[in-house]
Amino acid sequence: MHRAVDETHEVITATTVTSASVNEANLMAPLLNAHKRTMGKMARVCVADSKYGTIGNYLACYDMKVKGHFESIEKAHRGHGVRKGILPKESFIYRRQSDSFICPEGEELKRRNFNKNRQQFEYMASMKTCGKCHLLDQCTRSKTGRSLKRHLRQNELDIMLEHAGSKQSQKDIRKRQHLMERSFARGSRYGFKRARWRRLWRVKIQELLTATVQNILVYVRYAKDRRSRAAAGLRISTTSASVSWYRRNLMRLRSQLNHAPMLVERACVMELKTAR
Ligand code: SF4
Repeated sequence: MHRAVDETHEVITATTVTSASVNEANLMAPLLNAHKRTMGKMARVCVADSKYGTIGNYLACYDMKVKGHFESIEKAHRGHGVRKGILPKESFIYRRQSDSFICPEGEELKRRNFNKNRQQFEYMASMKTCGKCHLLDQCTRSKTGRSLKRHLRQNELDIMLEHAGSKQSQKDIRKRQHLMERSFARGSRYGFKRARWRRLWRVKIQELLTATVQNILVYVRYAKDRRSRAAAGLRISTTSASVSWYRRNLMRLRSQLNHAPMLVERACVMELKTAR
């Protein structure tokens, strides 16, 4: 299950259910578009975990004018696995004039190939040069010498990576952890964890209902806050005004949930009665 949750009131603005084999990194753009359809405008910032930190997602956010506050997969995996002990890409300097990289030993890595599928250029140093270098063990394990990749849209990617590395981004990523945990934990009260063997289409209905109930509870909490503020003399609010406010918002919610209108309606009515 994948959700988009608003930061201020923790309203679930978009949700989708897929089988475990689907790469969740591919769901960011559809979730952002679903959020836009629900809210009538695009999110300003998208916060996610590093599994979403693909080049495709950074560029999708750039195209949608959304700041991407998520760590890149490449950065998260740096220094692990086969790359352990290998000089990172940041040790090399890119020279725009000559379109080449300069390595820590001052050697030039020239542009060689273009990978059409990945939209990346490959830059390589000759093995003749690398073979004599005292940093060879720390630089590469390849028999053909050190190589680096640079994306066709690297300039846009650099802008997005700068946003992703900002202090605000780190703060948002920390906040996201407990915000999302809370959203899923609240869903577990409505049987969220029991979805095995139900088939995907039924689990989709289950998730839509769960999200609906959770959103209604957010409205209830928000209205309660308004009432307590009114009691403190800060604002005047009446029960009937709150109920009509729920109804207005329920109409908006219902329009999103085309898959199970009757079930959603019943759940909404039940929650509404409890709220009153
Ligand atoms: S191994 Fe090659 S690319 Fe790496 S530092 Fe030495 S000369 Fe430069």
